[in-house]
Parts: sequence; structure tokens; C-alpha cells
Amino acid sequence: MKETKKFKTETKKLLDMMINSIYTHKEIFLRELISNASDAIDKRHFMSLTDSSIPATDYEIKVEADKAKRTLTISDNGIGMSKEELENNLGIIAKSGSKEFLESLDKNTPDSDLDIIGQFGVGFYSAFMVASKVEVLTHKAGSDETYKFTSEGLDSYTIESSDELVDGTVITLYLRENTEDINYDEYLEEYKIKELITKYSDYVRYPIKTWVTKYDKPEKGKEDEESTHLELETINSMVPIWKKNKNEVTEEEFNNFYKQKFMDYQDPLATIHVNVEGLITYNALLFIPRKPMFNMYGDKNERGLQLYTKGVFILDKCKDLIPEYLYFVKGLVDSADLPLNISRELLQEDRQIKKIASNVEKKILSELGRILKNDREKYEEFFKDYGRAIKYGLYENYGGRKDKLEDLVLLESLNEKKNITFSEYVEKMPEGQKNIYFVSGKSRGEAEALPQMALLKKKGYDVLVLADDVDEFMLQMMKDYKEHEFKSINQGDLDLLDEEEAKKIDEQSKENEDLLKEIKEDLKDDVAEVILSKRLVDGAVCLSSKDGLSIEMEKVLKEQNPMAKAERILEINPNHPIFAKLQEVYKDNKDALKEYSSFLYDQALIIEGMQPKDPVAFANKVCELMLK
Ligand code: ADP
Repeated sequence: MKETKKFKTETKKLLDMMINSIYTHKEIFLRELISNASDAIDKRHFMSLTDSSIPATDYEIKVEADKAKRTLTISDNGIGMSKEELENNLGIIAKSGSKEFLESLDKNTPDSDLDIIGQFGVGFYSAFMVASKVEVLTHKAGSDETYKFTSEGLDSYTIESSDELVDGTVITLYLRENTEDINYDEYLEEYKIKELITKYSDYVRYPIKTWVTKYDKPEKGKEDEESTHLELETINSMVPIWKKNKNEVTEEEFNNFYKQKFMDYQDPLATIHVNVEGLITYNALLFIPRKPMFNMYGDKNERGLQLYTKGVFILDKCKDLIPEYLYFVKGLVDSADLPLNISRELLQEDRQIKKIASNVEKKILSELGRILKNDREKYEEFFKDYGRAIKYGLYENYGGRKDKLEDLVLLESLNEKKNITFSEYVEKMPEGQKNIYFVSGKSRGEAEALPQMALLKKKGYDVLVLADDVDEFMLQMMKDYKEHEFKSINQGDLDLLDEEEAKKIDEQSKENEDLLKEIKEDLKDDVAEVILSKRLVDGAVCLSSKDGLSIEMEKVLKEQNPMAKAERILEINPNHPIFAKLQEVYKDNKDALKEYSSFLYDQALIIEGMQPKDPVAFANKVCELMLK
């Protein structure tokens, strides 16, 4: 007897959506149906373990096309459905994924973003994106009845009992008529079916078979008559490489997998294979490409890992699986317990995903730490290309990742003449050194020549030479390393003088207060302060800046923000003969002091690698002096 039933309103709505869908990835219907088939086999297999009336069998999923009838059939020998189950599972939308999908449609304007279909994974109903009629022939394992569910996706469906012999479920899709834009016939093509199985369902645990054309060996004398026959062939590889044990996979296999999947021609710099079992169970296979695949500040939208659940591909470029600063890592995560229909929106809030992401981050960083320790050369290579990312990770998040990342940074050391870590710097600090010193925006040669460097050299203190724009911003965010403060040789008190020496300069400063004030007035807003220096040995003057924005940072920021300004300090060496000269001039000839002031400031600018305020006037003054 054939019963006709009405779909529930909700179901109807979803069906309408599918039928009218202009969604461009209609092809996901096959992934959905295969995934249902695989679940059904799981269930049957599970039952066979406890119920002797349901024997285990050679499980398989078949995808077969009939070009003449324009049908595509997906069959499985899984658990099947009883009549009630047909009604409850296919006649009503009970499952959460589809409900959420519908709710999200209610919130958005109806057809605002049909792209979300693929993300929700609307299951069985997605068949209606490509089919005008769907038949489900199913036999519940252990029962003695077979039923046929038929729907044309309108407002009703029929269920009738059938005497056809099936073991499991056979779903037949009657493809829709081709349109100008969409050629539904394509889904009947062997190449397309193979492509979709490989693309979406390669790692489903059961064999997915389809008919494949094989070329016969030509008979003797009939070499130009090519004949073919069809063979049912398993298309999917079934066991994902990431689910295998580490010792079952060779490095070469991992490399080949990487190159093929992520379209690189070089082997990866590092491969990280993670199998976690416990509260959360997941596998991850992560790669660091040998060379960055795109520019550091290029398209960060390209970042993210692929997400699988139980071997079924769910989402590409899933950003929630990896923090932004690790944008360069390629790979995938396969979680055992995520629903197939999880959406990008839901992922963001999913606690499991958050845990996986933080775990993935930890694994990557510990692998980097391992490389740094065991293969310095490789790490140097890594850091040359990706160091900026690590630095960015330190800078971003208000330094919140300091503990995780501080030991992964390499910076150039003036003394060691190579890249070192902070811990290597600290190890070599002579007794009495408290701070970590750095100079930025200078080459090694320029840095060596700076007058501020003399005192540090005398003490044997090492100085980190920062070459990258982001370095100084990073150090400022970090503030210190294991309680050793970072100090720019151009900023603040360097702590280089002993108490007595410092006191002496403080006294001199007091005595010469008026002179310093006068010079400051001469220089107007060019400098914020004029002081007697505690960082110079032989040099006469240098430029430093108040805490906060440094002169180098100003140079970097100026491009975006012309208002960025470091507060400059002109420092004069009280032990330099020029200082005595200044005192003399101040007493005798205040007008001449003006000239001295601007001359000294220009010199300080030049030492810092900047232009004098008025280069021509400066050159003229030098000539005048030469003629004196
Ligand atoms: P989901 O698979 O996300 O639950 P679907 O709409 O795809 O949602 O399917 C609804 C239900 O129908 C499934 O949960 C399952 O119980 C049943 N079902 C679908 N396909 C099959 C199948 N091939 N064999 C047995 N049961 C199936």
C-alpha cells in the first residue's frame, strides 16, 4: 500500500531552499549521501558485534550512474531504515544541523548568502539540489521488510513497501534538467564521480566503488580497434595518512602527501604529526613549507587548517584551528567527535575546537623549540623566512604570548657576530650586567661606530642589533626577558656608570642648568630636552629619546602616521673639550652659543643617520671652520 504524507513545514522550507538553490557547490550532495552511508555501515557493524542475527559483511558504498535514465545511485549495505525511521529521519527535520541552517536563514534575508549551505551540511536534503526526484529503497537490518520512500521535493512524499531485494539502503537521484548554467549530466560522468569521491570522501573508512572504464588489451591484428570494459573499482584510499601510526609512514610518504595536497614542489621544512587521545581525540598533520607560500603581510585570509571529522572533509582554511601569527602552517585536523554539519559560525564557539587549536599551537611551538635545539641550521633557515611571524605573535595580543614565544626569537649579536637567542645573550652576560641592550635601525658597522657604543664595549656588554622594523616594537611589548630589562642604547638610563660617576654628572648638570636651558631654548621644539650624557665616553654629542616612541620607531610609524614623533633629547658629553668651550661661549657671547647649539644638534642628527636641518648651511659652516 502506498501512503502519501505531507512534509512538516520546516522540512518543506528546507526542501524549497534546496530546490531553488543557486548555491554554486551543489556537488557536496555526494559527500553528504556518502557520509550518511558510512554512518549507516558504522551502525550496522556495531550491531553485528552484539546481535547474531545481523552478520557482519563486506561493507561497501557504491556510486553508479545510468546515463540513459539520467540517474545516480548511492547504495550502502549499512543498517537501513524501518518505516518509522524513514518517516522520522527523512520526513521531519529533527537534526540540529538543518535546524540551525533554517534559523540562520530566518535571521538573514532569505537568499542573502546561499554560500552557507555548504557549511551547514544539510544532509540528505542536499540531494534535491541536483535531483528533481529522489527514491530511497531501504531494508532495516534484521527485519523482513523493505520500504520505498519517494519524493519530488514538493510538499509530500510517499512510502510503500517493496519486494525488491536490498541489503541496506539504495538512494536513487533522478537528476534535474540541465540549464544554461548547470550541466547536471556531469554528475553521471565517470571522471566527475571519481573526482568528487577523492575530493570529499577519500578517507571514508569503507570502500567507495564506482564503475571505471578499463582498456582491453588489443587482439593481435586488431590494434586500432580499441575496446573497453567496466570494472567496479574502489576510489577512496580509506585510511588517512594522518591516522596511521608514526612508524607506519615514511618521511617520503608524508612529503609526497604534503606536496600533492598543498601544491608545493618542495619538501616541507618540518612535518608535525599529532595523535591525541583522551578527553578530546584528534589527529593533526601539520607542515611548515620550505619557503613561505605568500608574502608575510599578504593575504592572511589564506591561512587556516583543513578540518575533517572521522575522515570526512568538512571545511577548508579553518581559521579557528590556528592562531593568526602561525598563518604559514599548512595542514589538517581530524576530530573524532565533531558533527559533520558544524558551521563556521558554530566552530568559533566550539570548546572542543578551542582546545584543539591551543593544542595545535603548543605542538607547533614545541616542534620549533626542538628544531632550534637539535638543528640550528634548519632553525636559522626557518627564522629567516618566518621569524617575523614569531615576532608578530609576540607583539600581537599585548605580549600575551611572551612565555610561549620568547625563547624562539633570534636576533643578531654584536659580540658573537651571529644570531642568538635571549637565553644565549643572558648566559654570556658579564658579572654586574643587568639589562639586555639593543640598537635598532642600524647595520652592524653603523652600530659599532655609534659614540654611545664605547661605554658598552668597555664593559664587554653585548648589544643586539635589530634589523627588522618589528623588532623594537616587539621588545617594547615584551619589556624584559627573565627579568632582564630591554634597553635601547638610545633611550633612558643605561645603568652603565657606577654611583660616583653618575653622581658627578648629576652635580655638573645642576651647576650648568642655565647653559643647558639656553641651548634648549636655541633649539626650540627640535628637542624636548638638553642634558649632560651618561652614555658617552669619547663622543661629544648624541641624540636619544624619552621613553616610549624611539627615533627608529618614529621612522617606521611616520609612513602611516605623520604625527608620530619621538621626543628627542640632545645629550652632551661633559668630559669632552667641547663642553668647556660651550661654557666659555655661554659666558662671553650668547649669540655665538646659538650657532654652536644648532651645529651640535646637526652633528647629533648625522650620527643618528639623519639629515642636518639645513644641509647647505651646515656644509657652509664646516667650510668656515676649516678656514679659521
Ligand atoms: P544527518 O545525517 O545529519 O543526521 P540527514 O538528513 O542526512 O541528517 O539524515 C537524517 C537521518 O536519516 C540520519 O541521521 C540517519 O538516521 C538516516 N539516514 C540517512 N541516510 C541513511 C542511510 N543511507 N542509511 C540509513 N539511515 C540513513
